[in-house]
Amino acid sequence: MKRRTTSSTTEILDLLKASGNAMSHDMIQSSLDSKVDRATIYRVLNRFCEDGKVHRVVGDDGKQYFAICSNCGAKKQVHSHNHIHFRCLQCGTVECLDRELSIPLPEGYVAKVHNLVISGFCNECS
Ligand SMILES: [Zn+2]
Ligand SMILES: [Zn+2]
Ligand SMILES: [Zn+2]
Repeated sequence: MKRRTTSSTTEILDLLKASGNAMSHDMIQSSLDSKVDRATIYRVLNRFCEDGKVHRVVGDDGKQYFAICSNCGAKKQVHSHNHIHFRCLQCGTVECLDRELSIPLPEGYVAKVHNLVISGFCNECS
């Protein structure tokens, strides 16, 4: 029996809120004790991204990570993510760092989506 979509939706959102970090599908699935099937997790996460509740980060490991949207777009007209992400090579944590980013682009170019992930050692592991 599948769980109702509404409850897995709430569960995944609560999980991301509680974690405060970005989580991959695998991390989410193991935290939910595999109560929610993989397809549901994918669908729910995609919907969160569309709704602007969550943003997606692609790590240097090629995996997708999802983090709750907190201060992105709140004060601006456009929902944008220009903060830096950090992936720890030791503990595997992917964090949203509250550091604004501005990349010098050639004139006439407008940045909309940033997907910057820096890998290294976090303050716990360094
Ligand atoms: Zn966002
Ligand atoms: Zn670490
Ligand atoms: Zn982020």
